[in-house]
Amino acid sequence: MKTALITGITGQDGAYLAQLLLSKGYAVHGLLRRSASADVIGARLSFLGILQDVQMHDANLTDITSLIRVIEAVRPDEVYNLGAQSFVKTSWQQPILTGTVSGLGAVNVLEAIRIIAPKTRFYQASTSEMYGLIQEPRQSEKTPFYPRSPYAAAKLYAHWMTVNYRESFGLHASSGILFNHESPLRGIEFVTRKITDGVARIKLGLADKLLLGNLDAKRDWGHARDYVEAMWLMLQQETPDDYVVATGRTTSVRDFCELAFSHVGLKAADHIAMDERYLRPAEVEVLLGNADKAKAKLGWEATTTLEQLVVEMVEADLKRLSR
Ligand code: NDP
Ligand code: GDP
Repeated sequence: MKTALITGITGQDGAYLAQLLLSKGYAVHGLLRRSASADVIGARLSFLGILQDVQMHDANLTDITSLIRVIEAVRPDEVYNLGAQSFVKTSWQQPILTGTVSGLGAVNVLEAIRIIAPKTRFYQASTSEMYGLIQEPRQSEKTPFYPRSPYAAAKLYAHWMTVNYRESFGLHASSGILFNHESPLRGIEFVTRKITDGVARIKLGLADKLLLGNLDAKRDWGHARDYVEAMWLMLQQETPDDYVVATGRTTSVRDFCELAFSHVGLKAADHIAMDERYLRPAEVEVLLGNADKAKAKLGWEATTTLEQLVVEMVEADLKRLSR
């Protein structure tokens, strides 16, 4: 039986990845950072019905001693570093924290592996935000990076350190450059979930307006459930490498709204309005991924369409709010 350790197991991707690994017979362990809200911290794992099937360890990405203790105790075959301050907008309010957790946190994990168990395979959650001010219309592993937020800069540091530890110390360290991926478990502050939650509230008569920022921003949105499969595939390869994971289709926030409102028989234009509070100091206007390498080498392809994703998210929010 293989053993995996997931940092960020209580987040969106961590929950879906834990579910995938359990279905493959893995023993799944995760980091749990102490919180005063301990009663809600396992909500995503509970939503998937797997909270009791994973083993949690008291640790934090910013405390390398805790990581050393966990890795020593668990002796994982695979470590997936998904933990991060992952919300771009917050990264301008908390740039130091973002750099410490999302940047240095990855290096803490890499160091702990290098010191204790250098044969452990490592996955780093890199991001399309690293392309920021895009240098090519379709972004691949070869496209130059241009980060546009403290979050993206922190992630780029973690990305290069992953490459560096692979090349310097021969670690089996891979980095997945994942484009935006969503689900009913997406954090409520991200635009897709904010929209589907807003649509459900308006449909149920709990609200009548949805205030958003830049409606013209475009993203390559996929389903988190598909994307965690790519993470696992990367660690099954003989040679570690970096891969773009994306759908190859880009859609504006406005068009995402259209899809979500039309699913419940409403018109987006009747309910959405722009609010400057949701604009950012610097914007990533458009992202569009080229996942040809993942397809050729991993045999991976996105299977959920944007339309299916939107319906699943709106239906889940309707159900949640109707309770
Ligand atoms: P979430 O924000 O849902 O989850 C983040 C996780 O990190 C949570 O489990 C959180 O714990 C944990 N965490 C935060 N700070 C610390 C810390 N100091 N020590 C330990 N754990 C910590 O993110 P997603 O699941 O959406 O994303 C997973 C990873 O992939 C992230 O690194 C993200 O930046 C990256 N990514 C995500 C994309 C997306 O579209 N979703 C796209 C590309 C990359 P807690 O529950 O306690 O808050
Ligand atoms: P990101 O790509 O990681 O920043 O994911 P988000 O879901 O937070 O944002 C995606 C895009 O939607 C960005 O270009 C935002 O500027 C844009 N956007 C427009 N309105 C909103 C809003 O109200 N909230 C958020 N989070 N993003 C918004």
